[in-house]
Amino acid sequence: MTDPKLPSAADLLHLRGRTLEKGDPIALPLTMATMYHVPGDPTGYPSYGRSANATWEAAEKLLGHLEQAEAVLFPSGMAAIAAPFLTFLAAGDRVLLPSDGYYATRVLADSYLKKLGVTFDLRPTARYAEGGFAGYRMVYVETPSNPGLDLCDLAAIAGAVRAAGGMTVADNTTMTPYGQRPLDLGIDIVVASDTKAPGGHSDLLLGHVASRDSALVAAMREWRRLSGSIPGPFEAWLLHRSLETLELRFDRMCRSAEVIAERLAQHPKARQVRFPGLPSDPAHNLARQQMIRSGFLIGLTLGTNDKADAFIEACPLLRPATSLGGVHSSAERRDRWGDAVAPGFVRLSVGCEPVEELWAALDRALRETQ
Ligand SMILES: *Cc1c(COP(=O)(O)O)cnc(C)c1O
Repeated sequence: MTDPKLPSAADLLHLRGRTLEKGDPIALPLTMATMYHVPGDPTGYPSYGRSANATWEAAEKLLGHLEQAEAVLFPSGMAAIAAPFLTFLAAGDRVLLPSDGYYATRVLADSYLKKLGVTFDLRPTARYAEGGFAGYRMVYVETPSNPGLDLCDLAAIAGAVRAAGGMTVADNTTMTPYGQRPLDLGIDIVVASDTKAPGGHSDLLLGHVASRDSALVAAMREWRRLSGSIPGPFEAWLLHRSLETLELRFDRMCRSAEVIAERLAQHPKARQVRFPGLPSDPAHNLARQQMIRSGFLIGLTLGTNDKADAFIEACPLLRPATSLGGVHSSAERRDRWGDAVAPGFVRLSVGCEPVEELWAALDRALRETQ
């Protein structure tokens, strides 16, 4: 983590401390408030809990430091994804979405954008630029895509969309700002689920948007205030605490994933392994060009759906669960949700267990069940 473009993980730990007055608590207080004491002219003061909360602002300050941009917190990743859609799209606009990205994004567009008169097209992430971007008001990307782990070229897409007069939105959930920096590559708006690695302990739902264009940020903040799509202060407090260890957890998870992906790729029982950090991965060259780390997700294809389930159930260090990015390694067979993947495709989210213990458990489960 020595890339000069990365925000300082050390400063993140001291951002708050440097602003304290004598006698203030070092840890962030939790502000549970709907009303504020505002006699007379309220300008410049928090006045109501739907528009301002000190605990959200503290979490947004850390997210803003990580993104090197202004960040706005939302109550879930999906609420963050809905914000640019509902703030910037109008009847007659066209949107481009990945056909192989997070499924709820597509369902949201199909169920709610379409009836507002916004149309959308789908393209596979690995061939996203084919066909160009003329006529699209918004081009939405997700790289690496969840769950298939295909990549698309963020800088090339950002440049081409801007030249065509559109705006770009990137879902950076699978990487976090420590692993990939879409805004540095020219993307207009980042959206992310903080339910995943940023929260990291499988106990909170949150999301955020970030942009270096303050007019875009102000518009999405206003959307949040008027739609009431606001985070709970307690979740924001939990996220603030979790962000203090994100660099540590993400580094461990990514290092372990590199070791495990390499060993799985050699394993006689693995049919296919997708991991952007593997030299044999079809997206490896692009990964080296645009990603700082290779992430903590591994796509492992086993013989059949039954064999994949048996592997997950046999491994004592894997939680059989949806979601990803937690301290505890987890896995699931994505075909069970109807994703366009092989029946034996397992999305492995590598957690914070010591890597040799984790590998020994994975290897034993593979040998016993395949
Ligand atoms: C989980 C996830 C989301 C949705 O986030 P929630 O916090 O569950 O609403 C969006 N995009 C990706 C890539 C995800 O993995």
